Amino acid sequence: RAKSDGRGRWTEFDASMHERVRERVEIELALRQALATGQLHLAYQPIVELASGKLVGAEALIRWSDPVRGPISPAVFIPIAEDSGLIAAIGRWVLDETLRQVAAWRADELVGEDFWVSVNVSPRQLRDPTLPGKVSEALERWDVPQSSVVLEITESVMIDASTVTDQVLFDLRRLGVKMVVDDFGTGFSALGYLRRHPVTGVKIDRSFVDGLGTDAEDEEIVRAVVAMSTALKLTVVAEGVETPAQQDVLSALGVTVGQGHLWSVPVSAEEFTERWLVALAVVPESTQDAAGSS
Ligand code: C2E
Ligand code: MG
Ligand code: MG
Ligand code: MG
Repeated sequence: RAKSDGRGRWTEFDASMHERVRERVEIELALRQALATGQLHLAYQPIVELASGKLVGAEALIRWSDPVRGPISPAVFIPIAEDSGLIAAIGRWVLDETLRQVAAWRADELVGEDFWVSVNVSPRQLRDPTLPGKVSEALERWDVPQSSVVLEITESVMIDASTVTDQVLFDLRRLGVKMVVDDFGTGFSALGYLRRHPVTGVKIDRSFVDGLGTDAEDEEIVRAVVAMSTALKLTVVAEGVETPAQQDVLSALGVTVGQGHLWSVPVSAEEFTERWLVALAVVPESTQDAAGSS
């Protein structure tokens, strides 16, 4: 009896494994197609000064809507792209599209020198020794200053750092590109890792922001992250800010910059331009008069 149960389970296990593998292969093929036919897009989420709500930057987040499956979360397809190696081509597209957009905003004088866009970079991209050269080439091609782009890396990159990754991070930093550790606190980052790597900031994971105002432990963690970042002269951004209460606690703890649904979900480039750049641009008085009297 036990034996037949066991066999039954194995068969089921095999079937679901097979199903999962097939699903991954199908997603990979569809994603490759989407990249080739221009079906990938970037959404932008504003990053703001907590006290004033003033825009300081944005995070570029990839979006994909498959004609058959509908929208697929990057949390699902990025790991597949990472495993299959497709992330290299996707990563190049994300960087290029981001810089194209920043260049367009700069040309339209909608953003200034100090506006930056964060781009997520996967561990596998950082194992490519040609990455710094590609980043530098793309910056030149779009004539965008290094200070306008921030690379978001994961904690795992610092922990499993190989000599290749170390060199890539070092070369990127030498280019003048800023690097922040995304989802900070979810991995095992210790002070030592932050000190040994040329990162310029951390982004506090939203799982710690969630409990601010209700969970004393989360508050202590954020307090510790701020103290550590101050000591190491790292910038701090809070992600996943959803409530005014969280915003208040963050401010009280000394965090000055954040992003989250409290201000906006990630939106299309068009909507970001309208709602965050055009609407907030300082309109010269003469133009206002002209608009008013027409
Ligand atoms: P992430 O880099 O930590 O991005 C933040 C995620 O939190 C985004 O999910 C964003 O939509 C979501 N978020 C922002 N504010 C809030 C909030 O107030 N509440 C809640 N509940 N969520 C919030 P998204 O866009 O689904 O991206 C998921 C992950 O996929 C990203 O996490 C990042 O790791 C990865 N990813 C996205 N775009 C790219 C990309 O272009 N390249 C790479 N390599 N990874 C990407
Ligand atoms: Mg990110
Ligand atoms: Mg994050
Ligand atoms: Mg996160």
